[in-house]
Amino acid sequence: MKLRRVYPLFIGFVVVPAALMLTVGILILVFGSKARDYLFGTLILALVGTTFIGVVATLVVLYREAYLARLQTDFVNKVSHDLRTPLTSIRMFVETLQMGRLRDPERQREALDIIANETLRLSTLIARLLDWARMESGKKSYEFREERLEPIVDAAIKAIDPQRMQFGAEVVREMDPSLPAVRVDREAITDALIDLLQNAFKYTGPAKRIVVAARRQGPTVALSVADNGPGILGADQKRIFDKFYRGQDPLDRTIEGSGLGLAMVKHVVLAHGGRVGVESELGKGSTFTILLPASGGA
Ligand code: ADP
Repeated sequence: MKLRRVYPLFIGFVVVPAALMLTVGILILVFGSKARDYLFGTLILALVGTTFIGVVATLVVLYREAYLARLQTDFVNKVSHDLRTPLTSIRMFVETLQMGRLRDPERQREALDIIANETLRLSTLIARLLDWARMESGKKSYEFREERLEPIVDAAIKAIDPQRMQFGAEVVREMDPSLPAVRVDREAITDALIDLLQNAFKYTGPAKRIVVAARRQGPTVALSVADNGPGILGADQKRIFDKFYRGQDPLDRTIEGSGLGLAMVKHVVLAHGGRVGVESELGKGSTFTILLPASGGA
């Protein structure tokens, strides 16, 4: 059980009764013989209060558990579907080739290209799930080194080139020329940035404009990805970094995703001693910002 789920129970059953007992002790000291009346009154209050808070705390924990269980079930269904789709396509093309149904070498090459792409999609998905499992179990290790952000930003932008070429998008890069170095795990931060870029891509309409910016902000370096998408509902903004959570907008639900991307970004950023957040206005787009401690402090 996660610690934060235990906090309400701890407060309800330990902190409140302890505070009440302390009050009883003080009353006895102050009022001497009159204390017995106060004692009984206070004890009854303590009992009622503790029970009430206990019931509320238990309901909160139960509600949260049920909510997480539902998100987890959705996630498992989604991932099973994501694994099955490329597998079905691979099996179909392999069988077609085995039966010699494709005689034209050009068609055979196309089928092999599809098999190669689907295999890559599968292994990327599995690698991501394994990475997530390592994060969840605390076994993900990071190799921190002093790095410049420019090549990291370039690599992340390059990684989305295939989507950019296929769907078209204007990607603008705004780098502060006097950026300090940052102490990061290069691969993990690049992946986090790719996740933000991919989301900016996925959730933005046809005229996509994405701005990747890096600038100094006090003792930190702010790395942001802004898009001109539809924006994120206020209620969703608080939850989108939770694992498995997907936005409530029915349009978002038609877009491919498993609800892990932002949870992984948050995990990586926290491991770097940083923070990640979002600013978004409906109809105006969203800006996700990663704050990383600059090397050498302020
Ligand atoms: P996924 O994209 O797989 O659903 P994420 O964890 O990456 O999972 O994102 C969680 C949710 O946050 C998404 O389902 C979507 O509703 C919302 N979201 C993320 N990025 C954006 C964005 N750039 N614009 C609008 N909504 C976004």
